[in-house]
Amino acid sequence: MSFEIRLVPCLSDNYAVILRDPATEATAVIDAPDPAPIEKALDTEGWKLTHILITHHHGDHVQGIPALKKKYGATVVGPRAEAAKIPQIDVAVGPADPVAVGGMIARVIETPGHTAGHIVYMFDAEKLLFAGDTLFALGCGRPFERPAPVLWASLLKLRDLPGDTKLYCGHEYTLSNARFAVTADPDNKALAKRLANVEAMRKAGKPTLPSTMAEELRTNPFLRADDPAVAEALGMKGGDPAAVFTELRERKNNFKG
Ligand SMILES: [Zn+2]
Repeated sequence: MSFEIRLVPCLSDNYAVILRDPATEATAVIDAPDPAPIEKALDTEGWKLTHILITHHHGDHVQGIPALKKKYGATVVGPRAEAAKIPQIDVAVGPADPVAVGGMIARVIETPGHTAGHIVYMFDAEKLLFAGDTLFALGCGRPFERPAPVLWASLLKLRDLPGDTKLYCGHEYTLSNARFAVTADPDNKALAKRLANVEAMRKAGKPTLPSTMAEELRTNPFLRADDPAVAEALGMKGGDPAAVFTELRERKNNFKG
């Protein structure tokens, strides 16, 4: 299946992603932080928005909905558990509800943690994961509405996705995440190399997305809480992975870097 995709920086560090099926001209944006840059990206291509796919209810993911819906009349899809908090939602979805964007079909995966009803969209045929604020390049979202072990269980669901799945997430946090990651996994050579790459990309003003699941499995400490080396680096040798993950999250919250 061929598709077109555009990464759209919004606000200070958010991303929206535009995904288009050229055969049907169906065009979706995943999350809606700010209507202006999304409209501009669509105008540049001469595309019309047909779908707005929302990962969770936070303002910096939904506040662009009203303006985009007014202009394009696009169908708003979002998590059923957060439907009341998502403006102008048309279709509330859960894991049993495939989401079609033209000929492309997303599977909904529930990933509670950052918010209680957070979902991610996995386009299996295209190998595209839109992870919102659940999984970041080299990091993960803060568990605001559910405890850290619940978020760990959500991340374990994503670990099983094919390694060549492209990861798109809601924010450009990769450099800060990388600086923290090397403190949690100091002997990981792939991670050290990735930190250098990320520094160079950000210095050049380039986005660090998309990543791949294989790259995340190798280098993202939040997907490696059951790796003995990570537990040991935290002084938790033999520790329960959910506890190691919780400690990692705590340390990241307090990390200045
Ligand atoms: Zn959020």
